[in-house]
Formats: sequence, structure tokens, C-alpha cells
Amino acid sequence: MPETLAGHVARIRAAEQGAGSLNAFLSLADAEGMATASAEADPSAGRLAGIPLAVKDNLATLEMPTTCGSRLLEGYRSPFEATVVRKARAAGALVVGKTNLDEFGMGSSTENSSFGPTLNPHDRSRVPGGSSGGSAAAVAAGYVPMALGSDTGGSVRQPAALCGVVGIKPTYGRVSRYGLVAFASSLDQVGTFGRTVEDAARLLEVISGYDPRDATSVDTPVPQFTDGVGRSVEGLVVGFPEEYVPDDLDTSMRDRVVAALSALEDAGASVRRISLPSSDLAIPCYYVIAPAEASSNLARYDGVRYGVRWASDDIEGMYQETRAHGFGLEVKRRIMLGTYALSAGYYDQYYGAAQRVRHRIRTDLASAFADGVDVLFTPTTPGPAFPLGERVDDPMQMYLSDVFTVTANLAGVPALSVPIGEVDGLPVGGQVVAPWWEEGRMITVAAVLERAFGGASA
Ligand code: GLN
Repeated sequence: MPETLAGHVARIRAAEQGAGSLNAFLSLADAEGMATASAEADPSAGRLAGIPLAVKDNLATLEMPTTCGSRLLEGYRSPFEATVVRKARAAGALVVGKTNLDEFGMGSSTENSSFGPTLNPHDRSRVPGGSSGGSAAAVAAGYVPMALGSDTGGSVRQPAALCGVVGIKPTYGRVSRYGLVAFASSLDQVGTFGRTVEDAARLLEVISGYDPRDATSVDTPVPQFTDGVGRSVEGLVVGFPEEYVPDDLDTSMRDRVVAALSALEDAGASVRRISLPSSDLAIPCYYVIAPAEASSNLARYDGVRYGVRWASDDIEGMYQETRAHGFGLEVKRRIMLGTYALSAGYYDQYYGAAQRVRHRIRTDLASAFADGVDVLFTPTTPGPAFPLGERVDDPMQMYLSDVFTVTANLAGVPALSVPIGEVDGLPVGGQVVAPWWEEGRMITVAAVLERAFGGASA
């Protein structure tokens, strides 16, 4: 069996060497990784028996570094392993390596990684999306059939859409975050990637469930999510929020959305146009709450407890040098925005207001579901993968990549992205959003769309 893992790693290493590299991985399992795999995993049994798995580099692993894509954590070794990684290994998965990401998960293109951007396997001049761009690209390139990511505002669904694979963000509390390096704790969830809906659902099944080590994980039964694949959508009411097809939405993107809705109708679902009136507040709300929480979570990187230390004459100087050199520009921008939003005198105006808006966004969704809508369908992103470099100097444009995905995080509901064909020869995704704890229902809808549109592209 260690040979099996060694074989996968050798194959990926060969593909990622030299000019053809996508820069999808920040580390690959070495001899130590092989030893861990042979000691812990039972590849002959379990729901992920012998399956090579890629893990986003903000999930703690023992035998490989956990860098979060940050210079500050270069080479950092966690003293413990994330629950999701442990569960995947126990189910027989072979962890091949750690994937590239925007630093601490902050970004939508993987260009904010301190270790260089990941390229989109469909077009190497374009971004794979982010922040879990390495995981999405690894699955799209065929390096692995499944990968783990994290989704704070869309970081699983958006790269899944831009790389033409499936990405699931579960209900907040469904999956343990023990060992997921915190970005914005009230929004972060671990999510799964797969080339098929069934694979992404299977990995989710394995990692879900209550964990006493994560106070936000919820003790509720975990259904067999894979049972959702192949069920009928006959009679299901699909809500289509008008705010998610704005007038300026690219017409080819609009065509894809219309095609997806007709595929669902052909399969027996009925489509209901609805309104989620607070939708336009989602981005401003997210970009106050996420940076506010990040500014608090990232206070721990002071050069003492974690990672790299930049020397100075006194301790204050050491903190300053470490943070000045260790963090990239986007992370610093978020820390400043968040610190400002939380500061005395501004707290209520920014953070307080954002919390009130968050409540409205949640209420919008809850009312739609209470009115008989079973799932929502929206585009995952406003368009296909954009060229590398196009948005790096324009944070507002970058933030708008998440315009359709942040709502699910703010409300805590599950959502996924599934391929719905191409725009300009590049894959795009449709987003299915379900009520709290109803992942199975959205998996059923996604499987119907997968059949209609052929799923992950080659
Ligand atoms: N792109 C969003 C951000 O930069 C979401 C990131 C994420 O989900 N980790 O905050």
C-alpha cells in the first residue's frame, strides 16, 4: 500500500515538474507521509479505500507542513492533525499532498499565495479561482479524484466552478473545524471537491459529524449523502432568486442558467422566481464581518508562537518585523479593515450594522424555504475564469467574484457548485443552495444537473 501512495505521488510530481506545472501543491507526501499512511490507513476497507486525496494547506497535517500559503508559516509543522484529515485517512484515503491557496484563505484567485499562483488546468493563462485553487486544479487536472478545501465566502464553490468540478460547502456545524486554521470563525467550513457529485458527497459523508474538539460542530445525525445521487427531483420546488441574474450578467452566463433551470424542469422540478431582497448587501456585510474576525484570529501570528520570526532589537520590534515581512498585502488589508471596523467608536457603525444585515440575509433565506421553496438555484460566479493578473490590483473587482457565494456562509446554509457547461470555452458552475442540514436534497439536484450537462470536463 505505501507503494500505492508512492505511485500517486510520483505521478503527480512528474506532472508538476518543470514548465507544465500548475503549482497546485505546496508539498507532496514524502517518506514520512508514506509511513504515516501505512501506519494509519486501511486501504482495503473504508469508504475511501485507496483513494488519493489532496488537502488544502490550511488544514493541519502531522507529516507535512501547514503553511496557509503564507510566508509567515513557511515550513510550519502542526503538533496535531485536523479531524477531517484523520477521518479521511481512517476511511482509507491516501493523503498525497497539501494544496496551494490564497494566503489564509483570503482571495478568489490563488494569486495571493506567498508561493506563487496556481494555474487553471483548462487555460494556463487564467486563474483557478480561490482560495482553494490548488485543490480545485488538482481535481480538474486528474491528479486526484477528491480534495478537501475550506469555504468562508465561496472558496470551495467558486474555484470548483472555474475549474469545472464539483464543490460542496456543508451546513455550518456539519463538519469539524478542529485543525482548520481560522480565518473568520463564524463563516469558515471545511468543504469537499470531487470530479463527480457522488465523489464530493462521499468525502463529505466521511468527514461530517460531531467533534467534541470543535465547539461549533453540531451533534446531529449524518445521513448517507451519496443516497441523494439518483433520487428524483419530481415535484421539487426550485427557487430562482431574481437578484442573482442582474441586468449586467454576461449573456452567455445567463443562457447557461436558463439551460440549467430547464434541465431541472425537464426532470420534473418546478421553478419559482423569488426575491431575496437583501442580496445586494451580502458583499458589504461579508467584507466587514470576515475581516473583523480575521483581524482577531490573525493576532496570534506574532513571531513567538507560530512559524517564522524576524529578529529585532526589542520584542515590540520583533512583532512588527515578523508581521510586516510575514503577511502579504491582502492579509494586511484585511487586518486593517477589520481592526478599524472593530475599533471603539466605529464598532456599532460597522460590525454592529453588518451583524444586523446578516440577520436580514438569513431571514430572507429562511422565509423562502418556509414558503415552500425546496432549494435555490443561482449561477456560482458572474462568469468563467479570469486571466491571471486581471484583478490583483483591484480588490473591489476581486471581491465581486464572490457576489453569489457569500450569502450561504452568512446564513450558514449548505451550498454546492456543479458544472453547467461552458462560456467562451471555459467551464462555469451552477450553485444549488439548500436549507440548513438538507445537503442530501441539494446533492440530488446537483446529480440531475450533472447528468444533463456531462459533469466535470476533461
Ligand atoms: N474570496 C473570499 C475572500 O477572499 C472567500 C474566501 C474563502 O472562502 N476562504 O474572503
